[in-house]
Amino acid sequence: MIIILKPQATETDANEILDKIASLGLKPLYMPGIERTVLGALGDERKLKQLHLDSYPMVDAVKPVLSPYKLVSRELQAHDSIISIGGVKVGGGKFTVIAGPCSVEGQDQLFGVAEMIKDQGVPLLRGGAFKPRTSPYSFQGLGLEGLKLLKAAREQYQLPVVSEIIDPSDAELMHDYIDCYQVGARNMQNFRLLEAVGKQDKAVLLKRGMSATLEELLLAAEYIINAGNPNVILCERGIRTFETATRNTLDLNAVAYLKEKSHLPVFVDPSHGTGVKSLINPLSRAAVAVGADGIIVEAHLNPKEALSDGHQALTADDFSRLMADIKPFVAAAGKQL
Ligand code: PEP
Ligand code: MN
Repeated sequence: MIIILKPQATETDANEILDKIASLGLKPLYMPGIERTVLGALGDERKLKQLHLDSYPMVDAVKPVLSPYKLVSRELQAHDSIISIGGVKVGGGKFTVIAGPCSVEGQDQLFGVAEMIKDQGVPLLRGGAFKPRTSPYSFQGLGLEGLKLLKAAREQYQLPVVSEIIDPSDAELMHDYIDCYQVGARNMQNFRLLEAVGKQDKAVLLKRGMSATLEELLLAAEYIINAGNPNVILCERGIRTFETATRNTLDLNAVAYLKEKSHLPVFVDPSHGTGVKSLINPLSRAAVAVGADGIIVEAHLNPKEALSDGHQALTADDFSRLMADIKPFVAAAGKQL
């Protein structure tokens, strides 16, 4: 339930209602805005009837939240959330590029890419230390050694780091080494994993499952926020369709839809979304145009030697072209790179 207070309502008025909500065993939410304060009550809304909230003099309106997801919904928070990844602010009027290799393979490889993207003005580094691979015989990532390299790269190049978590029991271990947990497509509905990152205080980049509906994605984000972590970024990374020309079908409907329904930042991953190197540049421009808050892109200085996803990795030249090509689109969208 959403309770909209009158503009002249004070914090004391709000607290009185919040205490009443809590006394019924519902979760109270306090959302002060510039012009007026909005309160929320999560849980069994039928219980609220006994409070007769619309008879409070400082209550302007009481409205049910209609969507099954509440915390992520624009019904509850109309303005865009701005989320910090190691001090880099994502969302709002920004368009942010996250780049780096699919997997961390070694110091020379990781530092080489980090230096290249830093030179291109990219503020955030990606790199997988734990890799969820389709085949058990494929490279599974360097694990802790990879995390140590990510932390070293962060310090050397001042680039906060995004890296994938695949096991809830790694949440604490990873906390010191990374700035943002990536929950991958294959784990979008691993509810114990969502709760584990929901208990952390660092940002979470939540990728859409390859067969997940947008409602399922939003409910997965709801799990993380409900567990206590509001710092969630949604990411469209392509879905499985009948089309086989590309690795996945990048669903740009999703971006526009998610921006409409949710206040969370929405990113696009054109690398996995297409799996085709030459399509990453045009789909990145499309992502900006449709209203995404950023992209996450794979890059490698020597893709032929990459241990995963080399076919879709951008080289230094590809990457500098990408940055130049998205610039006018970002400006046209009224955003800042
Ligand atoms: C990745 O980012 O390298 C990755 C495995 O992504 P996804 O979960 O979207 O497949
Ligand atoms: Mn990859």
